[in-house]
This record gives sequence, C-alpha cells and structure tokens, in this order.
Amino acid sequence: KIVYLTFDDGPGAYTAKLLDVLKKYDAKATFFVTCVGDDSLIKREYDEGHTVALHTCTHNYAKVYASDAAFFSDLDTVKARVKRITGYDANMIRFPGGSSNAISARYSSGIMSRLTKEVQNRGYAYFDWNVSSGDAGGTTSSDAVYRNVVAGMGKFASGAVVLQHDIKGFSVDAVERILQYGQEHGFVFEKLTPTSYAAHHGINN
Ligand code: ZN
Repeated sequence: KIVYLTFDDGPGAYTAKLLDVLKKYDAKATFFVTCVGDDSLIKREYDEGHTVALHTCTHNYAKVYASDAAFFSDLDTVKARVKRITGYDANMIRFPGGSSNAISARYSSGIMSRLTKEVQNRGYAYFDWNVSSGDAGGTTSSDAVYRNVVAGMGKFASGAVVLQHDIKGFSVDAVERILQYGQEHGFVFEKLTPTSYAAHHGINN
C-alpha cells in the first residue's frame, strides 16, 4: 500500500517543519515547486531524498495558460531555478489546477489538450492526484485535512497520490498524524518517480 504525499506551491514558511517531520518518520514525498521561497529549502528537499518537481514559476493562470509558448517559457524558468540549486534536470510536473482544470479555457481554448501531449513529447511526466486533502478549498483545519487524507489513502490499490500544499500551516500540521496512521496501518510513503502511477484526470479544456 503506497502513498505518495505531494506538496504544491512552495517552498514556504512551513516547508522546513514539514521536512523535519518527514525525516523523523523516514518518509519520502514529492514537492511541486514554484519560484517562491528560499533556495535553501529546495536544496534540503533534494538533499534529503525527496522528489523536486515543477509546478510552473508564477502559478499565474492568466500567464501560464495564455498560450503554449507562455506555458513552456514559465516552466523553463522554474526548471532553471531547480537546476541552479540542485544540479538536477527536473522532468516531472504538475499543471496549476491539475490537467483537468477548466480555468485555462478563459485564456486559451483547448490548451490542456495540447499541453498534456506536448509536455510528454518534451520528455516530462505529468502528475495529478486521486486524494485531495481539501486544503485548497473549504478545509481550513488540520483535523479535516487528516480525515480527508486518511479516508482517501486506502481506496486506491494502484497508489494514493495525495494533494497538499506546504504553504498552508494547518495542512503541514496534519502530516505527522497522517504518517503515524499510515505506518501503523501498513502504508509506505514514497516519492513519485517519472514512471510512478500518475493519477491522471480527464481533460476539460
Ligand atoms: Zn498549485
């Protein structure tokens, strides 16, 4: 039973604490980073054996989904950041809003249909999720994040890909209990690799 914890939109103010908890439980995770936060946190993520993956630089929907070229230009910026800090060529991505997002239709009709193909042509693997912590929506408590993640973890035999955000303190605060519950119930917490189960969504634009 494999759980892939993934943390988007960082690094940020809670990332160091999260890394400490992951280390304490010998758990690995995946960080879909942007251009925010301290370089030293991305260095720690990488050095401590987690996957550092790309989530665009600006995470600005109007900008990244303005055109195919705009998307890749923005992606290249965060890729260069990760390369400068770690020396590593990141080849895994998550689209802002996921591949199923419909918001991009405001800016470019059909862009997700095109980008999901083109990123793979360019050698990237893209990842969505099948367990949402709810931390990007109405959920604002650690208890609710914990309940959402634990309830979702057991449902997916091919692996649970859990969406969280390490820029949200209440979400990071739930991680220790998630790890304790998981390890007591036979789950292992692994990082995503390019060939891991990707939990792809349907495309809506
Ligand atoms: Zn995001």
